[in-house]
Amino acid sequence: MDPLARTRDEIDRLDREFLLLLAQRMKVVREIGSLKGRDPAAPLRDETRERAVFEAWMREADKLGLSGYFAGRVLREILNWSRRDQERFLERSSTSRPAPAVKVAYQGVPACYSDLAITKIFATRDVQSLERVGRKTFVAAMDALEAGEVQYALLPIENTIAGSINEVYDLVARRNVSIVGEEVWPVEHCLVGVPGAVLEQVRIVRSHPVALQQCQRFLDTLASVTAESSYDTAGAAESVAQARDARVAAIASEEAAAQYGLAVLAREIADERVNLTRFLLIARSAEPVDARQPAKTSLVFAVNHRRGALLECLAAFNDQGISLTKLESRPQPATPWEYLFYVDFEGHVTDERVQTALNVLRQHTNHLKVLGSYPRRTESVLERVPPPMLISTIEAVEPLEAESPVELAAAASCPAEPKPAANPNLKLTGLREHGDRTQVDVSGVVFGGERFVLIAGPCAVENRAQMLDSAALAKAGGARMLRGGAFKPRTSPYAFQGLGFAGVDLLVEAGHAFELPVVTEVLRPEDVEKIAETADMLQIGARNMQNFSLLREVGRARRPVLLKRGMSATIEELLLAAEYIMAGGNNRVILCERGIRTFETATRNTLDISAVPVLRSRTHLPVIVDPSHAAGRRDLVVPLALASAAVGADGLIIEAHPRPAEAMCDKDQALTGRDLEQLAAQLRPILAARGRAL
Ligand code: PEP
Ligand code: MN
Repeated sequence: MDPLARTRDEIDRLDREFLLLLAQRMKVVREIGSLKGRDPAAPLRDETRERAVFEAWMREADKLGLSGYFAGRVLREILNWSRRDQERFLERSSTSRPAPAVKVAYQGVPACYSDLAITKIFATRDVQSLERVGRKTFVAAMDALEAGEVQYALLPIENTIAGSINEVYDLVARRNVSIVGEEVWPVEHCLVGVPGAVLEQVRIVRSHPVALQQCQRFLDTLASVTAESSYDTAGAAESVAQARDARVAAIASEEAAAQYGLAVLAREIADERVNLTRFLLIARSAEPVDARQPAKTSLVFAVNHRRGALLECLAAFNDQGISLTKLESRPQPATPWEYLFYVDFEGHVTDERVQTALNVLRQHTNHLKVLGSYPRRTESVLERVPPPMLISTIEAVEPLEAESPVELAAAASCPAEPKPAANPNLKLTGLREHGDRTQVDVSGVVFGGERFVLIAGPCAVENRAQMLDSAALAKAGGARMLRGGAFKPRTSPYAFQGLGFAGVDLLVEAGHAFELPVVTEVLRPEDVEKIAETADMLQIGARNMQNFSLLREVGRARRPVLLKRGMSATIEELLLAAEYIMAGGNNRVILCERGIRTFETATRNTLDISAVPVLRSRTHLPVIVDPSHAAGRRDLVVPLALASAAVGADGLIIEAHPRPAEAMCDKDQALTGRDLEQLAAQLRPILAARGRAL
């Protein structure tokens, strides 16, 4: 045997020994992990111990004449792996389920970076078997998840060079899914070609456009090559293997080259040395995270259109000493110049500090959705902050403010009255600790503020002339918003069902002509997105108050929602319906009392006037009244409207028609223009007495 072959044999033997030792070491690591998993009080990391291990290793390395830098990197990797491997025991202690057989969807073909990241994230998760399902697009991968074909989808969210992947952001925000994990993959682009090919032969380079861009300087060094974009790096490698042409190469990973039988023609070809892609592991519902694991949370919100609103949102995190790791803004096509903000921060959504921050955030946002809490895989912001800066957060705690004189007097005069127990289900709609109320801004018209809001218009949109006349009448009558049903929920299938989308267009046109934002009813989840493109507010009618799929859909919409009380729904059920909408992320909900079914037949429904003060004592959301559908009779509408203002309603929604006798829907309860003007005149003194104005 020649000396080179002999020394190579020696290397192979040492490598095997090395692996054996590593396997033994991991076995011990798992034993420790299992001990930690059984004892919830045991800390996950013992940093003093880690430092001691590291220092001992470095001393030994030095004695053996090894490079401290490289030896240190090897140990760091081993420690990282060990730490993550132990987390599987925490997972097991937080769920009693046996390790499942798991299917994961990704975008691309085998050996693409997403596929490699799946291997990495599941290497230390407790699963029985792992099947990967490659799909053409991000949407298709997400569809597979929502349809239940897979348990997870792993999608890239950002790259340290190319930035955010907006499509994925928008998908996680819109779909009914939860982020349950993150993974970071170091991208190492190679030029790969058919075996035997040499660099000088290459004329065509295929890859994903982002990869081509990231290797621009390298490509410029190759004379006369054409770049061809492909939907995926590994897909490009696959096409090169099929072409079997030495002139065609791809930019892809070394793993992709191996997968498709290609050779690496050049390594480290990216312009930037550090190139990391962060992936999100997405599931249909949230997964528990052991409290000992450092967690991260992602959320999306839209701020109220008010000066300083974004600043107040960010301050909410700072006030709780929570570190933000990412802030990204995205436009919303349907509402120009209003942005969605995506935020990642350190902490779990169940942490008390996080809960406090989110409660403050809800007051300054019109949309807020927690996308998920998951084990953190990126370096902590805190690890990068010099310690003295942390002290200021501790000192910044303000002394408790003294209670108001009224509260003090009340406390002095009576032995603390038992407060009604807060309903734990009204997490988002329930009254806030300091009693502050939500103001809902509908394209410039604010509900829940000092000004009382009158909404008027016909029951149904019938035609252009009727709609323009209605808008004129509403405007003259002091209304600040226009109503009109285009999709009508009629008790009889033979009654006029509305003009549908054509009706929405006519309503919006009339609203624009008279500068009145419009509200219209949505009946089906599948229509919500389209109607939300143009209508300023979406109405959920009484008959749909518990149509939960519709509630979830408007919860996702970027428009305020007018939620009417069902005719046989309790106040609590109304609030729980609002809870559905807010849980979907939409904070702009206005409640509407519109009469309930009782034994009384003198009126169409019985206006539950007490619902107004009761609601105000239970929720921070604005409350308005619809006296038209409660009364069913024109002569009762004005008196009921006045009563509503007197008991503290934030506004009214009233049916009015230019020619009530001709109305195709609810003609008996339609007010005329004259009625509206009288209503406005009589409302003024009542509102003034309550410190409000029309
Ligand atoms: C309406 O406002 O047009 C309507 C149908 O009301 P409700 O859902 O309260 O019956
Ligand atoms: Mn009606």
